[in-house]
Amino acid sequence: MPEFPALPTARSTPHGEAPTALAADVAIVGGGPAGMTAALYLARFRRSVVLVDAQQSRLAAVPLSHNYPGFPQGIAGADLLGALRAQLTPYPVAWLHDTAQAAQRTDEGFVVRCASGTVRSRRLLLATGVRDIAPRAPHMRDALARGALRYCPVCDGYEVRDRTVGVYADGAAGVGEALFLRHFTPHVTLFLDGGSATLGPEDAGRLQQAGVRLAAGAVDAIDYRDGRITVTHGPARSTCDSLYCALGLQVHHGLALQLGAACGEDGYVRVDGHGATTVQGLYAAGDVAEGLNQVAVAAGNAAIAATAIHRSLLRGG
Ligand SMILES: Cc1cc2nc3c(=O)[nH]c(=O)nc-3n(C[C@H](O)[C@H](O)[C@H](O)COP(=O)(O)OP(=O)(O)OC[C@H]3O[C@@H](n4cnc5c(N)ncnc54)[C@H](O)[C@@H]3O)c2cc1C
Repeated sequence: MPEFPALPTARSTPHGEAPTALAADVAIVGGGPAGMTAALYLARFRRSVVLVDAQQSRLAAVPLSHNYPGFPQGIAGADLLGALRAQLTPYPVAWLHDTAQAAQRTDEGFVVRCASGTVRSRRLLLATGVRDIAPRAPHMRDALARGALRYCPVCDGYEVRDRTVGVYADGAAGVGEALFLRHFTPHVTLFLDGGSATLGPEDAGRLQQAGVRLAAGAVDAIDYRDGRITVTHGPARSTCDSLYCALGLQVHHGLALQLGAACGEDGYVRVDGHGATTVQGLYAAGDVAEGLNQVAVAAGNAAIAATAIHRSLLRGG
């Protein structure tokens, strides 16, 4: 595993005290890979940047990623976050470790309000990500760290090839995930909160045809022990090497909605090919915007959005 310097202390004010008002060309809300990549690009475009971050990046929960380019042995999410923060250290990016509670459009641009202060900016980039809805069961943090609980077959389906895998869902959304995973292993079982009876005959038929087992009883308990997960469903119990939780996501689109930006029915903020939302001067990148929820995509789209923001500032307004 690569070694990175210790995380730099984030700067909120020159004296480390909570600021009352900051101003910048660009305010970025969200300091995961999308927000930090955008901050890097913008700082290198010699734009003043304030980065507001509540420090709950999804990336921090990634035990070891094998699909982020450039790391042959894989990289832990926490290490990648540390490397991104270290890369920003030489640049004059102002950090506010706080939650942005409200955002408003003004004649000059935007105002973002947090408990500890206010940020005024000409452009605003939302990189606020999403949150996975976790199963209500004990020890899930440990299970996640050990790869027994998983959320993202695109990320790590390869790691469970030929293993015994479960998908836990509360509806038909689990069918697509189970079928996706069937490509990697023949041992896939779909566990539904309400039991198999909650699924329509068409979906049940698709599962049967693909060789995915549909557990009969409603899920009563999920237990993690010795690196494996046991699901109790009705009178039966099934144990799997990994359980994929498909309960869905909460998209952090609250600020976008406050500002009047369009979001899809799935909750994702609508953006064009440059990361621009439907509100003039407001951009979004990373998991919060439509697209594939992946680190490489978050970084790539943030680079595109940052460059578009820089160009729009060159044009003025
Ligand atoms: C278990 C797991 C495994 C994964 N494995 C992989 C993998 O192998 N490969 C891969 O490519 N991807 C993987 N992912 C997905 C990857 O973590 C995300 O795609 C990536 O972190 C998205 O980056 P982001 O910057 O858009 O959002 P995030 O990293 O979630 O960052 C968003 C930031 O915004 C902050 N924020 C939100 N709202 C506010 C607010 N109002 N005010 C201030 N701050 C706010 C949050 O606190 C957070 O710090 C995995 C995810 C999980 C959960």
